[in-house]
Amino acid sequence: MITERLSNRLKAVASFVGEGAVVADIGSDHAYLPCYLLKTGKINRAIAGEVANGPYDSAMKNVLKEGLSDSITVRLADGLFAIKETDLVDTITIAGMGGTLIASILENGKTQLDSITRIIVQPNIQSSVIRKWAVFNGWKIVSEQILKEDDKIYEVLTMEKGLSSYDETEILLGPFLCLEKSVVFREKWEREIVEWHRVLLSIEDAEETDLVRKKKKQVKSQIELVRKVLAT
Ligand code: SAM
Repeated sequence: MITERLSNRLKAVASFVGEGAVVADIGSDHAYLPCYLLKTGKINRAIAGEVANGPYDSAMKNVLKEGLSDSITVRLADGLFAIKETDLVDTITIAGMGGTLIASILENGKTQLDSITRIIVQPNIQSSVIRKWAVFNGWKIVSEQILKEDDKIYEVLTMEKGLSSYDETEILLGPFLCLEKSVVFREKWEREIVEWHRVLLSIEDAEETDLVRKKKKQVKSQIELVRKVLAT
């Protein structure tokens, strides 16, 4: 049963979906998330969008197996073009991809966002790219969650329409997450600092081109910014 097997990562995404929402899960792969939302009775209708044939077939198979073909429409489409006006979708979920890909899906599908009131994203990396996209496109972050599963750390961002402005720290770390500073948040950024030091070491002996200088400066300033937040 899908309800017992769903990862905590996708359960966290599901927890931000409103009761009775009409959801389009983009990049749905096995359609686990829409199946879970239907099976738990949180929603009655969903679209599962997939751009690749293999994951699309898996989604179709699972929806059929769970007996949800009347409630979940699986579509082979690029990004938000899986959504049709007549679907009356109000909530979009995009999980398990990099922040840059998620932001590009939102950017390319902007014309599909008129009826959408909530976007829930779970970027594996680079959530800052999504926060920047939100600021430039009239969306604000209304909640954030950070969690650890199988030694991986994930962020879940929920956005609604509205003006927003975030400083450099909030864009990188998350406006809610950097206030909360949970244990997992601290672990994530301590890991990042180790990784950034590795990057610095790897380019230490590189020829001092403009690009290398710029990269060193950027990495050092990120380390300083994060250290400052973690110190308080
Ligand atoms: N959302 C699921 C999860 O979180 O477990 C699946 C994540 S899987 C790593 C990413 C999925 O997104 C893949 O199945 C891929 O084919 C799909 N995908 C990537 N770009 C897409 C796009 N532009 N439109 C729709 N699906 C896309």
